Amino acid sequence: MHNIEALCPPDAAYIIEKLNSAGYSAYAVGGCVRDTLLGILPHDWDITTSALPEAVLEVFGDEHTIPTGLKHGTITVMMHHEPYEITTFRIDGAYSDSRHPESVTFSDRISDDLSRRDFTINALAWNKHSGVVDCFSGIEDLKAGVIRAVGDPKTRFEEDALRILRGYRFAAQLGFKIEEETRNALRSEAYRLKNISRERISSEFCRLVAAKGAHSVLKMLESDGIFPYILDGAAYHLPDPSVFDRITAVPPTAEDRIAFLIRGYDPEAVTGWLRGLRLSNRQHKDILTLIDADGYASAPATPYDARRMLAVCGELSERVLTIAAIHGVTNTEEKRELIRTARENGDCVAIASLAVNGKDLIREGIAKGAQIGKVLSALLDAVLHDPTKNTPEALIEIARETAKTV
Ligand code: ATP
Ligand code: MG
Repeated sequence: MHNIEALCPPDAAYIIEKLNSAGYSAYAVGGCVRDTLLGILPHDWDITTSALPEAVLEVFGDEHTIPTGLKHGTITVMMHHEPYEITTFRIDGAYSDSRHPESVTFSDRISDDLSRRDFTINALAWNKHSGVVDCFSGIEDLKAGVIRAVGDPKTRFEEDALRILRGYRFAAQLGFKIEEETRNALRSEAYRLKNISRERISSEFCRLVAAKGAHSVLKMLESDGIFPYILDGAAYHLPDPSVFDRITAVPPTAEDRIAFLIRGYDPEAVTGWLRGLRLSNRQHKDILTLIDADGYASAPATPYDARRMLAVCGELSERVLTIAAIHGVTNTEEKRELIRTARENGDCVAIASLAVNGKDLIREGIAKGAQIGKVLSALLDAVLHDPTKNTPEALIEIARETAKTV
């Protein structure tokens, strides 16, 4: 296990020290301790303390503080433009909706705060005086590579069903096994995921599918019956069980991997799943391009088809080919080469780069209104067939011919 003292950022250490000197206990807690021990760079350092929120505000009176979640005990302190969340030790009250505790009670014991956390590997706290505080054998589970709920797994997933997906997600990210009783509870409580917002489900699924251990966790999702809660609407049936093994070869982004998983399905089902995932517009659009480009990826390896692919898929072209290759399309390497050549030659692959534009067509009296778009598309197709045609003279001539028929 790696040494936290050596890796703790000075600002986090300063915050802990400052709370300690004011007479409070304070620790780095959760993901940052877990990741640092494993030698992974944490994305943020959360601090937990016995100080009540008002006291935290007082201790950091000279710093820029934000009362982020005063009710839940969280104050954010900005240090060198980095936010640090400081949360008072707390015990969560009863949960009525599988998501939100009805009340929180502040505590002055770190053990109380650790006991409300989801998994043993996340229920670790550290400061330089006490070392790692580990009330639930989290270090042992970290070493053994095990995801285990803190306390009774069924109760913990009943309290907050998002923990179910977090459990699978950590297993995928860290490449850990899921302890048996925890796994059984994941299965038996899965139906509670219907209480969790689509956005939260989607965000966990995107992280899971992009993780290094996605292949084995996707198999678990399938055998534990979790897919219906992730891909909303039409049932997801595996086209071929090897699909999860092959996903390892797909670039590790949520977009590429989701496109890979749902490629080839009925378009209506795909639309429903994507809508249900509530992705950002950008993610949604990229996944649709990656899927829709299928026809281009399977086309023959000709310079025209490569340029046409660039015109439709743009920056995503290589990613489309990677996915197609993993799905068994054989001529993707030739196409990759042809795409590289087209890029190097600066071949025109977009209407915006044609040597003439709509205004030119109007000025020449060739086309007007809705016809303009059709003529420009035909010009692009002509240039995709033969890049040397991208000159005003050649295009005007083609446009005159085309305008007669469209
Ligand atoms: P990552 O930041 O990589 O998602 P993390 O473990 O830091 O992992 P956060 O969502 O940042 O996850 O939460 C910080 C800590 O808060 C967790 O390590 C865990 O101790 C606790 N925690 C977060 N969400 C829950 C939850 N739903 N139930 C119980 N404890 C939770
Ligand atoms: Mg975190």
